[in-house]
Amino acid sequence: MSIIDSFADVKILRYSVGGFEQLSKNQKFLLYYLSEAALWGREILFHQNGGDETILLLRTLDAIYAHQQQNGNLDERLALYAKRVWFCSGVHHHYSNDKFLPEFSREEFHNWLSQVADFEKQTGMSADCAEESLARLIFDKDYKPKKVCLDNGVDLVKSSAVNFYEGISQSDVEQYYKNAGRNALNSKLVCNANGEFEEQVWRIGGMYSDAIERIVENLKRAAQYAENELQRDIINTLIAYYEKGDLSLFDEYNKKWVTEKQSAIDFINGFIEVYSDPLGYKGTWESIVELVDTASSERIRLISENAQWFEDHSPIDAEFRKPQVTGVSMRVVNAVMLAGDCYPATPIGVNLPNAEWIREQFGSKSISLGNITHAHHEAAKSGGVLSEFAYDEDEVRRTRAVGTLADDLHTQLHECLGHGSGRMREGVTLDALKAYGSTLEEARADLFALYFMADEKMIELGIVPSLDVAWAHYDAYLRSGMLVQLARIAEGKNVEESHMRNRLLISKYAIEKGAPVGAVKMIVRDGKHYIKIYDYQALRQIFGELLREVQRIKSTGDYEAARNMVETYGVRIDAELHHEIRERYQKLGIKPFSGFVNPRLHLTDDGDVTIDYTEAYDEQMLRYGRDYKILSCK
Ligand code: ZN
Repeated sequence: MSIIDSFADVKILRYSVGGFEQLSKNQKFLLYYLSEAALWGREILFHQNGGDETILLLRTLDAIYAHQQQNGNLDERLALYAKRVWFCSGVHHHYSNDKFLPEFSREEFHNWLSQVADFEKQTGMSADCAEESLARLIFDKDYKPKKVCLDNGVDLVKSSAVNFYEGISQSDVEQYYKNAGRNALNSKLVCNANGEFEEQVWRIGGMYSDAIERIVENLKRAAQYAENELQRDIINTLIAYYEKGDLSLFDEYNKKWVTEKQSAIDFINGFIEVYSDPLGYKGTWESIVELVDTASSERIRLISENAQWFEDHSPIDAEFRKPQVTGVSMRVVNAVMLAGDCYPATPIGVNLPNAEWIREQFGSKSISLGNITHAHHEAAKSGGVLSEFAYDEDEVRRTRAVGTLADDLHTQLHECLGHGSGRMREGVTLDALKAYGSTLEEARADLFALYFMADEKMIELGIVPSLDVAWAHYDAYLRSGMLVQLARIAEGKNVEESHMRNRLLISKYAIEKGAPVGAVKMIVRDGKHYIKIYDYQALRQIFGELLREVQRIKSTGDYEAARNMVETYGVRIDAELHHEIRERYQKLGIKPFSGFVNPRLHLTDDGDVTIDYTEAYDEQMLRYGRDYKILSCK
């Protein structure tokens, strides 16, 4: 499993689908149509990230890239820019949310564009017109500089490039949804010509209808091959939701989906995560098609079966413990197809649904993407990050020995128990923490994992051979949160992304509280910073205390405390430290981000489905651009 492409700060990996060959024809057809339903949503995400302009940019770059490639004169800078736009589904860095600019000039762009003879036929727009429309988006750094802006004290809606609102201020949006009484995951909110607010719902007959029709068409085919009646019903409920756009149908779908645990094939498909909306209302479109890996799911079964024990022993205030933890389940799956906001950069674990009341009443379903994690670990072996940033050889040895297990266990505790634990105080809504909610939610799940990973219960259950697994993870967590992850951020910038903020927050807090009691220290040796943990049990208690406070903040909707905590510990980076880390990292020559190409599924003439792992990154992107072209760009 090697790196198949790399550009900017990104490396592209390939994953393989263990168990595919052993499937029945019926199952392969189910995977095929679910995968088609996944791929047809591709352009929705581009549009959510930046509107018509972004679709036009995609078409234009595809046309120039393909033209130059066919003529054997592909310009490196054009290739770099196109690969980045494909990777980010737009012009903003997928992690930092900052706009990136090309290394070519507008004149060069003009020349390249004019060489594509059939441009107008391909895109429905003349080359001149396209150039004019795209000039600011591509070349003006001040135009839409941020995809998602979470800065303190500015209008987050107006300063974010995402296409979820139009002609509306942050306070109007907040007022609107306060009155509406519930979140609207699947619509754009606009102010129409009469000055009235209007929701453009993402459904058949509404916004994104063309793409959603194709998704539904393929879901209908998939339903014919469902593995059981419940799964068929789940697919049909999702179809009904896409047809009507009614969120209560999406709830229905989720309620059924969390209970379906029998089938070997599962999927996610919809407007789901709200990280790209600065206010956390709107869901970006995503899909993952999965094949369950039954053999790897044993450890997780043990964790799930003991969910109530963990909840009862959680260091949080008794008021916020769930009296009955229901439906906690987690499975290791192999990804078969990644799409929308899960492609090419993909999560390694997912816990859904996001609707808190469904989680509380019906439970949630967690997956760990086994083949994706495996591909990451394989790629990391060739690195050098561990030796550079670990305090000493012992730390390196221990991480090598148990690091993979520790990592997997963390993800499983985070997704399987962490997000699902705790409860809200009555009357407190989830959006009370606004822009700080996502960060603290991730912190809550991480702290739960950190705390319980080091519990004797883990040994008792036979999940870990010794607490060394946890201690290796404590080293790794602080090393990453306080040091290594800073390499991903441009100098002079703050931390923006929720998961990164969360890791910095926990690490900084732990060091601040742990240093005076001798539990952990930041050490400078030969001009380089390291983290040294002296007392792991004491550090565990600090994680427990922080978990208690984060849970209190969430359960009571204490916005002031949330802001204070995130702004104090999770946002700012010491400039000198930042510079040092970036230098040390750059010397290693490693790309900090990863993404994946999908396998290609073929329908064969003799009625079978085959899987193919030969496609290159650009080849795949250009094929998707041709075969799943659906939204209009004007
Ligand atoms: Zn999470």
